[in-house]
Amino acid sequence: MVFSLMRPPGHHATRDSSMGFCYLNNIAVAALEAVATGSKRVAVFDFDVHHGNGTEDILLNRPGLEFFSIHQHPAYPNTGAASRGRNCFNYPVVPSASREVYRAALTNALDDLKHFRPDLVAVSAGFDAYARDPLADGPLLAEDFHWLGQALGKLNVPMFSLLEGGYSRDLPELIFAYLKGVAGK
Ligand SMILES: [Zn+2]
Repeated sequence: MVFSLMRPPGHHATRDSSMGFCYLNNIAVAALEAVATGSKRVAVFDFDVHHGNGTEDILLNRPGLEFFSIHQHPAYPNTGAASRGRNCFNYPVVPSASREVYRAALTNALDDLKHFRPDLVAVSAGFDAYARDPLADGPLLAEDFHWLGQALGKLNVPMFSLLEGGYSRDLPELIFAYLKGVAGK
């Protein structure tokens, strides 16, 4: 299992501008490097509560890459209302949606990711869809991040995760729940 506990996050940084706490788009850099060094089908799965507009900007219509973003909409940066191009798939969820609705969006995205049959999964792991996160209106609990980690781990595809957002005091607990899920525990 690979998890990068990095700050600042990266998924709002576009090709030519920093945005939303992000200077460099870490996940896009990693995904492009993977394709440049032999990966044929790289899926980027972004479960930060904010749309990964920068990742979409960089990966749009690039062969060998598909991007899946599940996020609150409307919310910063107000993009991601619909899918774009041939390879960027967006799953907007209304503010203050229930856990069931949020989980259904995550499940839809995972199902679509499976159809892509990736040989590598790069995860933008943001924990700000948490119910007590101060920056958004998500509903998720630690057990939901555990469930999501399990679902990603069960794909049985090489995978790595980079930390994106997550601003509550419970962040360490949420990351731990996610990693336990990824490890199948
Ligand atoms: Zn975020």
